[in-house]
Amino acid sequence: MEAALKTIWDIHTNKELLWIKWVHGTYLKNLNIWQVEVKTRDSWMWKQLLKARKKAVALCGSLENLQSLIRSCCRNSKIKLSALYLALSPTENRVPWSTTIWGGFNYPKHSFISWLAVQDRLLTQDKLIRRGIIQTNQCILCSGAEVECRNHIFFDCKFSQDVWNKIMDWLCFKWRCCDWNQLLNWYSFSLLGKSFKHSVKRMAFTSSIYNIWMERNVRIFNQKCKTVEQLVKLIKVDLMTTIINSKIDAESKNWVLSL
Ligand SMILES: [Zn+2]
Repeated sequence: MEAALKTIWDIHTNKELLWIKWVHGTYLKNLNIWQVEVKTRDSWMWKQLLKARKKAVALCGSLENLQSLIRSCCRNSKIKLSALYLALSPTENRVPWSTTIWGGFNYPKHSFISWLAVQDRLLTQDKLIRRGIIQTNQCILCSGAEVECRNHIFFDCKFSQDVWNKIMDWLCFKWRCCDWNQLLNWYSFSLLGKSFKHSVKRMAFTSSIYNIWMERNVRIFNQKCKTVEQLVKLIKVDLMTTIINSKIDAESKNWVLSL
């Protein structure tokens, strides 16, 4: 599937290659590679390509997710197949954090960003510096008090610490920690199973990662800032919306309402 995705990406980025021009003229016409549907008279190869596209979109939850995943595997605008392979290989059964991140109450978009965070694939500033894309590294959440890397932004940064502590307060967590590795261990080994409270706590984790990452992006790209309280509210709304819309027993409902 990785090789097929590389081909799809080459078509998407419209590489200056003769065969890509041919593909555009023959198969795509005015459509793009993500929209085009399979036709019965298409060649076997083309059908395989679109089949791989469909499978990859399903795996990532959405086309947008797939595209950002592929982008995260590019170095100097070239796809690293080994990185793509690792990102797409079925990890469900072999990594302890998979239950923390996927399924249950988790929103697919939260799962996806958390999945990238766990694999340290989000394009944080430390990575952009290494690739020569930017020259300085200042965490935008704490106004440049520290440099931005995965472990800082989740949840070592003063801003995300405040968000995370407030969420833990709200859910009556007894155990407190803002260290990424310890947190991930705790979530992967101690918060397993179908218990309602555990599911809610797992969702709090992925929703916090997602909302903090989005806040970081909005600050960088749109120069708009939310306060700790506003972000905490967003995470609570995410959690409450899912919980209220799911079938839960009376005891669980009372617990949620008492929060
Ligand atoms: Zn910071």
